[in-house]
Amino acid sequence: MTQGMNHDYQDIRDAVRSLCREFPDEYFRKIDEQRGYPEAFVDALTRAGWLAALIPQEYGGSGLGLAEASVIMEEINRCGGNSGACHGQMYNMGTLLRHGSPEQKRKYLPRIASGEWRLQSMGVTEPSTGTDTTKIKTTAVKKGDRYVVNGQKVWISRIQHSDFMILLARTTPLAEVKKKSEGMSIFIVDLREAEGRGMTVRPILNMVNHETNELFFENLEIPAENLIGQEGMGFKYILDGLNAERTLIAAECIGDGYWFIDRVTRYVKDRVVFGRPIGQNQGVAFPIAQAYMEIEAANLMRWKACELFDAHQPCGAEANMAKYLASKASWEAANVCLQFHGGFGFACEYDVERKFRETRLYQVAPISNNLIYAHIAEHVLGLPRSF
Ligand SMILES: Cc1cc2nc3c(=O)[nH]c(=O)nc-3n(C[C@H](O)[C@H](O)[C@H](O)COP(=O)(O)OP(=O)(O)OC[C@H]3O[C@@H](n4cnc5c(N)ncnc54)[C@H](O)[C@@H]3O)c2cc1C
Repeated sequence: MTQGMNHDYQDIRDAVRSLCREFPDEYFRKIDEQRGYPEAFVDALTRAGWLAALIPQEYGGSGLGLAEASVIMEEINRCGGNSGACHGQMYNMGTLLRHGSPEQKRKYLPRIASGEWRLQSMGVTEPSTGTDTTKIKTTAVKKGDRYVVNGQKVWISRIQHSDFMILLARTTPLAEVKKKSEGMSIFIVDLREAEGRGMTVRPILNMVNHETNELFFENLEIPAENLIGQEGMGFKYILDGLNAERTLIAAECIGDGYWFIDRVTRYVKDRVVFGRPIGQNQGVAFPIAQAYMEIEAANLMRWKACELFDAHQPCGAEANMAKYLASKASWEAANVCLQFHGGFGFACEYDVERKFRETRLYQVAPISNNLIYAHIAEHVLGLPRSF
């Protein structure tokens, strides 16, 4: 039996819901209209300690498991908010926790836990290489006690609301490594110092109100002590963090999915056309029932991934499958919710179109679902690698 089936985490749900009640639909709608950042909401979550859920108590966090952390993310989305504004603060620190030196952990983790510092950004994707991460062209060359960074990143989120970023760069040219996954390193970059001193930020206006940017590096200097772990191991370190990220994204999608089902169910019971509630038509009820079942099924995989992760067992397949199934289920729920709101689904005041745009992102980011098919085909089914 999985954790989520014998534990409903009701205390966490109640507490997060109560905080979210202070930030109703109108709050997120207005932020979306203004293309703003939900600063007050993120501050409240931080003050309440929710974003420090995964930081061990010795560093000032609450030392909870991934299951509990996932409930926090789920509830935010289930209440109509968007965890995408701040989920990086919850999981980016995992790289430091797992691979940072004792000094780095002592320096950063307590301040991240208290919210004094935000580590909301992770710079991996590049415009010319996309998902083919081992081909990244951003380089970090060691010169004395510094690394000098040159290159470009794209779609790097929350830069304008973060103090630090984890950056992946090549430290040994691709041509000089045995395996293409070798020779990349990760650094912690102080964004407050970097901007204007070798790093330029260009915001990308996009379909979701998601603060994301292009970054240009021209001789950005990073102190050598900001290297995390061993030089050349960065790609592996990034991969180590993906299972937590994917499972948390799955939980956000589950939260979205239940939000869509709640809203559409309520609406189709009330909306009367042709002399009866539209939900009485099987053509309306069945797709909603189907979407609901798919969310419930995806949720089981989410709990399985959490359970394995929290037991320190391999969970790559389950975390990937949870992200795939949950993002697919939330997208189907979004579609039925929009469809059965008829024209009103397109009106901003119903919030359906906003959530519809928000949940669509997870088909593509942080990893495209096609790449999850590739992972399962190769690593679970033993099929030949396709790229
Ligand atoms: C709003 C937003 C926020 C983001 N935030 C961040 C961030 O904070 N940090 C960061 O590093 N990145 C971030 N990303 C980038 C995101 O991780 C990438 O967009 C995603 O991984 C896909 O990469 P790509 O856009 O380069 O697509 P590409 O690699 O160009 O692929 C395009 C599409 O082609 C298909 N495809 C590609 N290769 C294959 C293949 N081998 N087999 C089958 N299908 C394939 C996939 O369907 C994919 O969606 C963000 C993206 C968005 C849109």
